[in-house]
Amino acid sequence: MNFIPISEAMRKGKGKVAVRGWVYRERGSNKLKFIVLRDSTNIIQCVLEKNKFEKQWQDIDKLQIESSIEIEGEIKEDKRAPTGFEIHATNFKLVGESNEFPINKDLNEELLGDRRHLWLRSRKMSSILKIRDTVLKSLREHWRSRGFYEFNTPSILGMQAEGGSTLFKVDYFGKPLYLCQTWQLHAETGIYALEKIFTIQPSFRAEQSKTSRHLTEYWHAEMEVAWAKFEELQDDAESAIKDVIKNVLAENKSELKILERDTKILESSLKKKFPRITYSDALKLLKEKKKMNISWGKDLRTIEEDKLSEIYDTPVIVSLYPKVVKAFYMKEADKHPKEGKVVLGFDVIAPESYGEIVGGSQREESIKKLTENLKEQGEDPSKYEFYFDSRRYGGVPHGGYGLGVERLLSWICKLETIKDASPFPRTMTRWYP
Ligand code: ATP
Ligand code: MG
Repeated sequence: MNFIPISEAMRKGKGKVAVRGWVYRERGSNKLKFIVLRDSTNIIQCVLEKNKFEKQWQDIDKLQIESSIEIEGEIKEDKRAPTGFEIHATNFKLVGESNEFPINKDLNEELLGDRRHLWLRSRKMSSILKIRDTVLKSLREHWRSRGFYEFNTPSILGMQAEGGSTLFKVDYFGKPLYLCQTWQLHAETGIYALEKIFTIQPSFRAEQSKTSRHLTEYWHAEMEVAWAKFEELQDDAESAIKDVIKNVLAENKSELKILERDTKILESSLKKKFPRITYSDALKLLKEKKKMNISWGKDLRTIEEDKLSEIYDTPVIVSLYPKVVKAFYMKEADKHPKEGKVVLGFDVIAPESYGEIVGGSQREESIKKLTENLKEQGEDPSKYEFYFDSRRYGGVPHGGYGLGVERLLSWICKLETIKDASPFPRTMTRWYP
């Protein structure tokens, strides 16, 4: 038998086909069996008649959900079938049995989490995973087509970059090291070799709080460029997100449909320019439109980001945050509002209350300022000597940003929790399977 994917068999639409996959649903009588077969491409109804399979009927009659099988037969259109086609089987082979597949509608979140390795086969999860693939591919293509090199950095580090509170300690042959929160510090040295670089690799954050948007391990798509201007970094983040949306809308129509995603807001995000406002503007807007009073200098929390996102039908870019709420490496602006010092940092906040999807900045070039910032955070600047070298030997203006792959995917698919954006999510309470 020359097997073809179910989607291809449906495109063919008539004649003889051979398909293989797993039993998605089954029902029948003692004369007739209806099997909905699933492979990675689609599902299709198959009909097996007892009088054609006398010898194998025992196997066929006992078939349970997720058994793997091969089927050959005639395909034809049938409006009543779940996907509009039906295969009348002439050949059947049982490949692998499945007894009492332990996934059903009544499982709570905890049990579905324990059985994640099996739940991945669901139409919901496999649709999300296909969209995830488009997201990753689009980001790579976005940067490659602009002359970026893929550049990787270690996950085990001797210093922090995003504040000590979310650091994971690693016992490294008796020495206390950390899991990386970002590739950034090493990337800032890499641009002196390659100028424009990106990576898509895991970052680790010891997130203590249970939220629908934090994982402890997530895939971080990051870029760093030499000679960068602050505006250009924002332009690139906007166009990277638009490239992702464009490809998902073009390539994942059926997955978005399975997820029942209304795509209106994805379409408006693709068409419109993302509004760019400053942190101070954001506080004004929140006061005027949402009756929220936030004192200048406080970081935007989940609740504020969510209220702000309600004002727009595209992502919004917020920049010029107070220096005190941002990381030590962000460059201080030349001009400051009367309220206090700001940095050339920006966040891209997703619509529909999905929070921050990108965080980026122009990087501070002054070793003196970097040292002061680190000391203020109680850090030992001597650990950062390699990093300072990027300023000592031919330093240039530069910057970059990091995009949370699962954050973006959560929004694109409108997921209830970020956990579903990852095949095997890691949180404070979830590390199995
Ligand atoms: P938040 O305030 O939402 O915790 P952050 O300011 O800590 O985000 P950054 O340090 O700027 O985030 O990280 C860059 C990007 O990585 C974020 O814009 C977000 O998309 C993603 N990200 C950060 N923390 C997590 C996490 N715990 N799980 C998943 N994605 C994350
Ligand atoms: Mg955080």
